[in-house]
Amino acid sequence: MKCARGGTFSKGELQRFGNIELNPSAGILNYGQGLFEGLKAYRKQDGNILLFRPEENGLRMQVGAERMCMPSPTVEQFVEAVKDTVLANKRWVPPPGKGSLYIRPLLMGSGPVLGLAPSPEYTFLIYVSPVGNYFKEGLAPINLIVENELHRATPGGTGGVKTIGNYAAVLKAQSEAKAKGYSDVLYLDCVHKRYLEEVSSCNIFVVKGNLISTPAIKGTILPGITRKSIIDVARSQGFQVEERFVSVDELLDADEVFCTGTAVVVSPVGSITYLGKRVSYGNGIGVVSQQLYTVLTRLQMGLSADEMNWTVELR
Ligand code: PMP
Repeated sequence: MKCARGGTFSKGELQRFGNIELNPSAGILNYGQGLFEGLKAYRKQDGNILLFRPEENGLRMQVGAERMCMPSPTVEQFVEAVKDTVLANKRWVPPPGKGSLYIRPLLMGSGPVLGLAPSPEYTFLIYVSPVGNYFKEGLAPINLIVENELHRATPGGTGGVKTIGNYAAVLKAQSEAKAKGYSDVLYLDCVHKRYLEEVSSCNIFVVKGNLISTPAIKGTILPGITRKSIIDVARSQGFQVEERFVSVDELLDADEVFCTGTAVVVSPVGSITYLGKRVSYGNGIGVVSQQLYTVLTRLQMGLSADEMNWTVELR
């Protein structure tokens, strides 16, 4: 789909996957005017396909587009485009239990812009790819390192929206962490360097007894759709959930820590290294992480009743 600045998107068409042409002075290439989304389609036992809360991705893209001075497709257009793309790529949705089809909507300033300004034209496209587990560990504990110097977001910046530059900002810390054998990086707030923010591509939760705490959404972390869903699932399972400032010190005496995201689903954290000190959370997968993972994935794969009305079924 394409539109001019200030305009509205009109229905686009399906195209075979391949390179796209961009003007060298396109807004996305020069000034990072780009936003993306990520969602997954699972195949059910009966062959039908399930999407999980696609309208939430459409809404998040709209909020992000406003921050990035871009027009955006309506939520209806977004969801329709996702459905059309998935249906056209039905054969790439893996069989039940063998992974999912990852869906990547991308909104970008595609028009020429030499002096710093919003692009005069925009393109919205979607591509898909079958995927397995995000972390090579699968549903096994991941090992994080707390980053004390580099930050992915600042107050007033763009950390709360899914813009491409946020991911460029984490590449250095993430690559260094991976080279040292860690799965990913846990970021702290850049003002106090004390409160948990999130991981490069997922949100974080800390479990202590019946209380599950997660950093509040305050502009510097991404409002994850899995995060929002897990908060509801956890409450429905009888846990107390708090969205608040969570201090890095709380990692020391937590029972369990886990991450959430479309790609990572619910990933238990096995250890966290902070200022050279490693805190471990048992040898296995925490019981709370396991329970929430099971409830959420069963729902996403159509193995349990969708009482929340979160899934969209495609035939
Ligand atoms: N934080 C960041 C920085 C992310 O990239 C993602 C993945 N979209 C998340 C959190 C989790 O969001 P969601 O649950 O919507 O995938």
